[in-house]
Amino acid sequence: MATLPLLAGAPPTSWQAHGLCRAVDSSIFFPPAHFEHKPEREARERRAKAVCNECPVRAECLDWALSTREPHGVWGGHAEGERKQMLLGKARIPA
Ligand code: SF4
Repeated sequence: MATLPLLAGAPPTSWQAHGLCRAVDSSIFFPPAHFEHKPEREARERRAKAVCNECPVRAECLDWALSTREPHGVWGGHAEGERKQMLLGKARIPA
């Protein structure tokens, strides 16, 4: 089982060290190398978001993903398209 690349070497004091995704297969957070049909993508993202919804550092994670304009994957409970809408002011950024 792989961990998220960013989180793999996170110092224990970092919010990244407390992400629940460290304990699950990171492949649910990112699109596969092959073409992914919409129903598959939606199912994968639902599984990732379910992990994020229980994560104690969800807010910090979303802040990081928005501030770095992370282009791929589910971070802080939001997929890349949802974060893009937030950055464009077309969706509310959760408090
Ligand atoms: S919010 Fe999701 S992606 Fe972010 S650290 Fe938690 S489980 Fe990982």
